[in-house]
Amino acid sequence: MKQGTIGVTTENIFPVIKKFLYSDHEIFLRELVSNAVDATQKLRALASFGEFKGELGTLDVRVTVDKEAGTLTVSDRGIGMDAEDVDKYINQIAFSGAEDFLNKYKDTAANIIGHFGLGFYSAFMVADKVVIESLSYKEGAEPVRWECDGSPVYNMGKGSRTERGTDIILYIDSDSKEEFLDQKKIDLLLRKYCRFLPVPVIAGKEQEWKDGKFVDTDKDLVVNDTEPRWMKKPADLTDKDYLDFYQELYPGQEEPLFWIHLNVDYPFHLTGILFFPKIKNNFDINRNRIQLYCNQVFVTDSVEGVVPEFMQLLQGVIDSPDIPLNVSRSYLQADTAVKKISSYITKKVSSRLDELFRADRAEFEKKWDDIRIFIVYGMLTDEKFCDAAMKFLLFKDTEGRYFSAEEYRKLVETEQTGADGKVVYLYATDPTAQYNYIKAANDKGYNVLLLDGQLDNHFVGLLEQKIENTSFVRVDSDVVDNLIRKNNRKVADLSPVDRAILTRLFEDNTRKVEKCNFLVQFEALSAGSDPVVLTQNEYMRRMKEMAALQPGMNFYGELPDSYNLVVNTANPIVEAVRKNASEALDATVKPMLETIDKANADADEARKAEQNDENKAKAEAAEKVVADTRAKMNEAIDAYAKTEPKVGQIVDLALLANGLLKGEALSSFIARSLAILG
Ligand code: ADP
Repeated sequence: MKQGTIGVTTENIFPVIKKFLYSDHEIFLRELVSNAVDATQKLRALASFGEFKGELGTLDVRVTVDKEAGTLTVSDRGIGMDAEDVDKYINQIAFSGAEDFLNKYKDTAANIIGHFGLGFYSAFMVADKVVIESLSYKEGAEPVRWECDGSPVYNMGKGSRTERGTDIILYIDSDSKEEFLDQKKIDLLLRKYCRFLPVPVIAGKEQEWKDGKFVDTDKDLVVNDTEPRWMKKPADLTDKDYLDFYQELYPGQEEPLFWIHLNVDYPFHLTGILFFPKIKNNFDINRNRIQLYCNQVFVTDSVEGVVPEFMQLLQGVIDSPDIPLNVSRSYLQADTAVKKISSYITKKVSSRLDELFRADRAEFEKKWDDIRIFIVYGMLTDEKFCDAAMKFLLFKDTEGRYFSAEEYRKLVETEQTGADGKVVYLYATDPTAQYNYIKAANDKGYNVLLLDGQLDNHFVGLLEQKIENTSFVRVDSDVVDNLIRKNNRKVADLSPVDRAILTRLFEDNTRKVEKCNFLVQFEALSAGSDPVVLTQNEYMRRMKEMAALQPGMNFYGELPDSYNLVVNTANPIVEAVRKNASEALDATVKPMLETIDKANADADEARKAEQNDENKAKAEAAEKVVADTRAKMNEAIDAYAKTEPKVGQIVDLALLANGLLKGEALSSFIARSLAILG
């Protein structure tokens, strides 16, 4: 029996490995099974070159749990190793590799989490003793046995294996027994990491229900699919194959909308199938669903860095030996090969979408609502994708019709171009709440888009940049005549006295709404338009909505909602209100307004003159006159307001149309309405 020390200078390497890799210690199984699969594939290769002439036999990998002995064994019928191989690959290469690894990473323990390719001796993360029993495929080879208890000393001697291949026997340590000596748990791990390995992996026997319990049958339980569909040629697969594969990956999920088969050889190797799941508007999606494989070995399902963020809404498999897996994530993002892969996938996805759009427009429209959030997210976060997507982006209007960007431009260009030459795209975010405004716009011959997605607030800003000479305006952001400004605005023709009276009258009726500001404006809309219309400034509203989505923009978020309360002076009800108020108040208000105007002029003059005590006192006195007179004027108007229920009524109707009439204000509206009905 030969004894030696492993070529590692670090005093005791294994506790270090254990500690560093604690969070990921289950990967030892992936490492050992991949080694066994590699050894099997190598044998197949040798046989195909004619270098190995013996019987291949059934080539599989077995993972066996022996609870009593406390062992977990990974066995293969691959090329095996003789003493020289073990010396070379296990004693020297593997362990010296570990030394490099430790030297490189000893200061950055965090980098080590998720490390891939620790290889054979990741076994020591869960075992306090590891034995190798192996017989090489080479003619006349002697079986070899190697064992090591985790100290840097190993023993090597003649082995007992009589068949070609290798057993790796792990004496599971006491901390890991519960997890790794349980056949069910091992099965689950194998299904996670080894599900698509190219050699059958057998974990115990299939079971059947017999006499009230599950019992083993004679049939081996194969945990993997050795020919995963992404490795095949798209031409050899039917739609059903893809759908079945999807079910295999994500059991119980609703059918995907469509898929993309990836296949590149140059400048990197990559295969895979990406599925578009039904996402709808639910943004609270479970991330990390694309699975990353390296030569059919599962690596991870967190693919940040490898695919652009928005692609993480997709599902499926990416398999590439060219993604460096043994490094930290930040490095991954900076890696040029990875960047290429990421941009390749982006290109592939956009060209597939473009193809679907062109090939079957009706089908594309049918799926549009489901893929829209994905596309919008992609356009917002990836410039290249955004430019590509402008070609297949669809606009949906409030009547449920779909248009490409180009088609839509043509549709609205004539009617909806403003005096400044910009084409105004009207949109609604809530067709029920904004029904009145949409109807008014449609009646005027305008089209209204539906932009009710969660990201649309940002998206509108992006579209304004991407579609030249366009502005997006929500349908309730102004009265319909002013949504698209066409130089023929009708200014309300009110005398200063009437304006002062009406302003106060309407203001009196808006104070009941909390956390909202109203700016009373007068416009001569058409006689048939509503007497009062509430609009919300597009810019302010967007700022507020953005603030709600982003932390750190509280300034806008905390501002009250401001509305324009547009009084339509051409409406007969308003005209009657004006006439009556004018008759009742003109005699009182007119001289007061004159006093105010004069006092204002006096104050101005005094402020402009030399700043001495006398002038200061003059200015203050004049300002006091203004304030006092205004207070008296308001008092008079307020007293009149009590005798004029119509103003309250028409203001309330506008509030009601916008869902702003609540609580006490709502109940007095109802009482007043009933009183009017007599
Ligand atoms: P890696 O697999 O990254 O090369 P490992 O430490 O896992 O590193 O393995 C080192 C070497 O030991 C392998 O390259 C292979 O030559 C040999 N080896 C490991 N396991 C087996 C096995 N089951 N059969 C044959 N050779 C093996």
